[in-house]
Amino acid sequence: MPSGVAFTSVVILGSTGSIGQSALSVIAHDGGARLRARGLSAHSNREVLVEQARTFRPRFITLTDPEAAASVDGQLRGIGVEMLSGTDGLVRMVQDPETDRVLNAIVGAAGLRGTWAALEAGKVVALANKETLVVAGPLVMDLARRRGGTLLPVDSEHSAIFQALRSGTAREVRRVVLTSSGGPFRGRSRRELQDVSPAEALRHPTWRMGPKISIDSATLMNKALEVVEARWLFGLEPDQIEVVVHPESVVHSMVEFVDGSILAQLSPPDMRLPIQYALTYPDRVAGACLRLDLSRAFGLTFEPPDRETFPCLDLGFEVMRRGGTAGAALNAANEAAVARFLDGTIGFLDIPRACRAALDHHPYDSRPTLEDLWKVDAWARQEVGRWRY
Ligand code: NAD
Ligand code: MG
Repeated sequence: MPSGVAFTSVVILGSTGSIGQSALSVIAHDGGARLRARGLSAHSNREVLVEQARTFRPRFITLTDPEAAASVDGQLRGIGVEMLSGTDGLVRMVQDPETDRVLNAIVGAAGLRGTWAALEAGKVVALANKETLVVAGPLVMDLARRRGGTLLPVDSEHSAIFQALRSGTAREVRRVVLTSSGGPFRGRSRRELQDVSPAEALRHPTWRMGPKISIDSATLMNKALEVVEARWLFGLEPDQIEVVVHPESVVHSMVEFVDGSILAQLSPPDMRLPIQYALTYPDRVAGACLRLDLSRAFGLTFEPPDRETFPCLDLGFEVMRRGGTAGAALNAANEAAVARFLDGTIGFLDIPRACRAALDHHPYDSRPTLEDLWKVDAWARQEVGRWRY
């Protein structure tokens, strides 16, 4: 590392999850030269969080589930790590004056509070939690502007777009094209999806991820959420965002400029690269990420998404156009429906049905406050929770 570069103190929210663990492997590989873990959080996974605390020696850790926090007893003695609990603990870690960057790797709308608190304190937020922007995109971007906070994408598609955007000005951008692997059910018909099991839906062809986003990838809801995420993150107009299916997951997304030039970012499917870029930006470092082997023959394919079989995708485009409370309704309905699909009380095709119904029946408001959004979130969860199919 060049001399004179100070290290970055990172708080990782959701450090026990798939993104959280990949982030810690980036920090471990860095060996303390540039990146240090300052705070870690999990909801209830006490064992893994305490183990991470022993390895990485952060200043503090938080269990957001107060019951789980109360059960940590003496395990941190002698290692100088402070134990915090609940949302208060999370807020204290992200707003601490010595925290430089916050990686938000919490799953679901629950991640919004951490993003909000970090931006309120003017921090740099490396955002994996796309639900933050789906629920409250305009309010979050406005908060960042007012407080001097920064959002850096961790989602691989948005990281690719962010990198490609560095080649031109905002006015030179014609459109962005998000790539989608197509998920485990690419090529299937609607009838073939009728009885798929959670185990089949969880088996993603190219990425290893947490359960919720794996199901979102199978319904294409993940791409729907990403379309909304891209709109707010990059300040794009709805007709500037498109989706193409690319099963190899090597081209992570593209930007087309007004002259017809398309810039893409390529790398093997390995989340450590976009995570590392968001933690070291604007620098690039060697790191431990997988590299493309261009010495052997391989092909890259692209095809249009099957919007009839995967109706969730168009729900994302609709929500992106409507704005207001639509994102909060869609996201909460989807979270509740995915939880019900995973516990076996609804079928795979009921996920888009539940989301459609929540969008149609929620009390739409075009300029909601944060409090209004939480009300819509609670309403949609309750509705989907009591649905009988
Ligand atoms: P995961 O389920 O593996 O991990 C989730 C983490 O959040 C865990 O540490 C868990 O303890 C914590 N958590 C869960 N509920 C919580 C709550 N109510 N309050 C506080 N913390 C809570 O999820 P993941 O796959 O790592 O995904 C995390 C986020 O990153 C999601 O928003 C996902 O869409 C996004 N993302 C993930 C990937 C990936 O490859 N996994 C890629 C791009 C974006
Ligand atoms: Mg993604």
